[in-house]
Amino acid sequence: MISVEEAIQLVSNNVDPLTSYIELDVKEALYYVLFEDVISPINMPPFRQSAMDGYALNIHDKNHYSISGEVKAGDNHRPTLKPGEAVRIFTGAPVPDSANAVIMQEKTVVDSKDLYIDSTINLNENIRSLGEQVMQGQVALKKGIKLNVAALAFLTTLGISQIKVFKKPSIAILVTGNELSEVGVALKYGQIYESNAMMMGVALEQQGYTKVTVHKVNDHYDNTVNTLKEVIHKNDVILVSGGISVGDYDYVGKALNKLGVKQLFYKVKQKPGKPLFFGKDGKKIIFALPGNPAAALSCFYIYVLSAIENLAGNMNFQLHRTKATSINEFIKRGDRAQFLKAIYQNGEVEILNGQSSSMLHTFALSNALVYLDNSSKSIQKNDKVEVILLP
Ligand code: AMP
Ligand code: MG
Repeated sequence: MISVEEAIQLVSNNVDPLTSYIELDVKEALYYVLFEDVISPINMPPFRQSAMDGYALNIHDKNHYSISGEVKAGDNHRPTLKPGEAVRIFTGAPVPDSANAVIMQEKTVVDSKDLYIDSTINLNENIRSLGEQVMQGQVALKKGIKLNVAALAFLTTLGISQIKVFKKPSIAILVTGNELSEVGVALKYGQIYESNAMMMGVALEQQGYTKVTVHKVNDHYDNTVNTLKEVIHKNDVILVSGGISVGDYDYVGKALNKLGVKQLFYKVKQKPGKPLFFGKDGKKIIFALPGNPAAALSCFYIYVLSAIENLAGNMNFQLHRTKATSINEFIKRGDRAQFLKAIYQNGEVEILNGQSSSMLHTFALSNALVYLDNSSKSIQKNDKVEVILLP
């Protein structure tokens, strides 16, 4: 059985970005990853720009200036200022070439064409210099950046409307289990409602992955082999839920083996989520996750998400990790590493009661997982612990 650290390393060593790209309108590219550096076609800003409503000055050594005109946003005239002259100017307006500062109007006294300033003026204050954000010909955004709303807006400010992005992986969720029923149907004795497919589907959607299909199979060897074969054929990522443990009716491991999927690991020294499988079929990646919902979600965040991000071209993805002070104690049983459902706030973390792999009710309240590696035995109140913040 391998350690959490080894498992994370194996995932990151074995997932490369998809090699295919698509060209998209910028407005459709939310949460796609840039396939290549974007070079700016213009200077941003494209001219020296006023950052304030006030007066553009050609500085001299007195505190009196004479106002010789006005430039508002969108104007394209270029008044010339002699030392001691000023123009009225507004935010976003082009600063005349001969002006070397913009004084905010709150710091001035104006009497008709006379302007008085009683604070010091710094050279170039309140002037956004030409190309301050990016110069024409420079890299505006680097390959591998996952595009958020601001990135799309930034590209638009540069006049860019089309970009090359990595294709998003197609993802299949395969749910196993005879006991699983759909929501909307009354439960028969022995049944539970299936929740893992929806859970992973929504978690994927939250990160921008919408090419997700859900498939179901009962606990039957041949059916498992056939369904797995089909979903592996049609997808880049396969997430299997349940059937990967050691029970007599857990057929996923045998089916993956039969189909020749290369196993990179099976079983991780962790709680929850010991029976976790990771393998590959060519470039396709396959995770088989424990069926217990809280274990499945924990494994999803720790292993699956970064694998999918890497596949989608985002090689820098990591959930945010930090240290926090534990406000309660926790005694670990056994020697597996543990991911503990917890609430993190302002540098403090509360480890919740109810850590079993099946317990979603605790996960529902959590915004973080406390990570206890396999050598740690317990957490005392006020101990500094490692916290993984959930998206
Ligand atoms: P398994 O990993 O198949 O042995 O399942 C472990 C536990 O998780 C059992 O109690 C299952 O009933 C439960 N379980 C498995 N799959 C799901 C699912 N898709 N949704 C909710 N619970 C599940
Ligand atoms: Mg099962």
